[in-house]
Amino acid sequence: MIKYYNKIILSLSEITDHPVLLIHGLTGCAFHCFHCFNYDELIANTPESHQTIGDVLTTIRQQEQLFDYIVFSGGEFLRASLDDLRHDLVAVRTISNKPIIIYTTGIELSKMKALHQEGLVDGFHVDMKLPYHLLNEDDADLIELTMGITITNLSLFDKLLDALEFTIAYDKGFSRIRSVRYPFLSESAFSENRTYIHQLNHRYGKNVPYDVNPFIYTETEKL
Ligand code: SF4
Repeated sequence: MIKYYNKIILSLSEITDHPVLLIHGLTGCAFHCFHCFNYDELIANTPESHQTIGDVLTTIRQQEQLFDYIVFSGGEFLRASLDDLRHDLVAVRTISNKPIIIYTTGIELSKMKALHQEGLVDGFHVDMKLPYHLLNEDDADLIELTMGITITNLSLFDKLLDALEFTIAYDKGFSRIRSVRYPFLSESAFSENRTYIHQLNHRYGKNVPYDVNPFIYTETEKL
């Protein structure tokens, strides 16, 4: 059973021109990214109280007229088991025809493929935290600083690149690729990412947007 964060948010700022219902799964995360503002509250110190899919469905029914998309985020929402993901997404599909978008790092590609094939998700918004296609072993410190992981080889990034390619190849008009403007990355990192995404779009005849989101310090960090 997937546990959901108590605060289900009606957000006007997640997707330009589209109000969304933002639902966080308390599903953990394989990474610990630089100043992740969800980490302390949603990942490291998972709240004792939580909502169930039944509570989520109630909120969707009550607020259905107020949003365009239903967005599942985390942590990494796709760390939940495939059976649990299926169960909850089928339940959402049963009561709402609003497009379902999942925010993801791309680390669970087999689940992305399954949910796509079963028609349970309309789009993925995939993080591209670094120019994965240009990384080499000498970038271990940069990878640790950005994603909070120690690597022994680069196989993870091959998987993340596969997830980016899958997302673009099978886009139905709802997917996006996005980066965070981490303060230690130069502008060239984002232009390399943009070029890479442009090439994938060209290969598959798609037009998946690439966004660079501002880096935001949390309120306590600003003090
Ligand atoms: S992948 Fe997302 S949720 Fe996980 S640590 Fe990084 S920013 Fe936070």
